[in-house]
Amino acid sequence: MVSKPVTIALPRSEDGMTGRQCPRCEGKFRVHLPTVEDKCYLNLRCPYCKFIDRLDRFLTGEQRAYWEAIGRDETLQLASDVTEEVFSEAFDDLDGGGLIDFEVETGSVDFGGTHIPSWQLDVMTEEVICGECSFRFAVEADRDGVCPICR
Ligand SMILES: [Zn+2]
Ligand SMILES: [Zn+2]
Repeated sequence: MVSKPVTIALPRSEDGMTGRQCPRCEGKFRVHLPTVEDKCYLNLRCPYCKFIDRLDRFLTGEQRAYWEAIGRDETLQLASDVTEEVFSEAFDDLDGGGLIDFEVETGSVDFGGTHIPSWQLDVMTEEVICGECSFRFAVEADRDGVCPICR
């Protein structure tokens, strides 16, 4: 079995900060994504309960809703735009038992008409620069949090 890595580009603010939510305590925080990517950090630590898990496990509820909406939108687009072409060819070909491969470019998807919820966090966060490793992150305004990166 070969497993294919699936890369989802996380939405981020212009300043590179993106929301994360702890799968254990559901605490929300933000991290500076370009630093995470540059340094190839694979794990994050929850600033609140110190739970450590893979970066992509810290998906926020907002982001989940956002991706679901985009997924729906793409499905609709595919259904209306390419059904006839792709499917008539694919069906001609079906005795091969082949799978239908779709390639979707999210950059070119027109979201007109579909409501895409905001992926932004619904909580106020306060930015912190880690004194140890200079990592930029943000924690909920009235909570203390440890650096999600350094140990
Ligand atoms: Zn936590
Ligand atoms: Zn740090």
